[in-house]
Amino acid sequence: PISQTYFVTIGVLLLITMGYVLMQKEHAMSVLHDLAARDPLTGVANRRVAMEQLAKALSQATSRHQSLSLLMFDIDLFKQVNDTHGHQAGDLVLISVAAAVGQRLRTSDVLGRIGGEEFVAVLPNTPADGAQALAEDLCRAVSSTPIVIDGQEIHATISIGVCTTKAASGRGDFDELIAQCDAALYAAKRNGRNRVEYAQPIAS
Ligand code: GH3
Ligand code: MG
Ligand code: MG
Repeated sequence: PISQTYFVTIGVLLLITMGYVLMQKEHAMSVLHDLAARDPLTGVANRRVAMEQLAKALSQATSRHQSLSLLMFDIDLFKQVNDTHGHQAGDLVLISVAAAVGQRLRTSDVLGRIGGEEFVAVLPNTPADGAQALAEDLCRAVSSTPIVIDGQEIHATISIGVCTTKAASGRGDFDELIAQCDAALYAAKRNGRNRVEYAQPIAS
């Protein structure tokens, strides 16, 4: 009968509409989640997410008896870049450096902006020699590629601190890893910038 067809049709339309609304909601939630995880300027992970990912990678490294490396890097004399070329040019330099580094990482690595012009790269399953080779490559890549803004070349460089937890023990301590990496970064600044310094591998 007509009325039965009518109600079935309405019911089907309602279900389709509900499904659509739920799908849109899912999508909006995932967009929001993604926005909350990223640094709005460079698009890399923000500080909170980078630290969460580091903690996660560290506990995975422990349970799998793999080594984990952490790079901490900071753009050299960045205040001077802003003072000379303006804050907007500075922002473009931040974007370019993040992109140049991100392009050289593995998909399992996590790049994060943890401060104004300071970043970390979490490198799961990466022993000291691999992290060192990567860090040297990143330093070279940034220093050898001038960033062109309004026809002007900006020569940015970065200093990098590297620290690795040893595979055999696999029990790197979160705070110690950060502190060692930070100390290595400051040694790189002290020793002339545009260079890499290494902390002792951590085996606790
Ligand atoms: P060093 O080599 O020792 O790291 O020197 P530096 O000049 O890079 O270090 P300092 O900490 O003195 O200056 C950092 C500058 O970074 C100062 C600040 O204005 C700038 N900065 C921080 N966040 C941003 C940003 O989002 N955009 C721009 N354009 N500049 C930023
Ligand atoms: Mg700096
Ligand atoms: Mg800094």
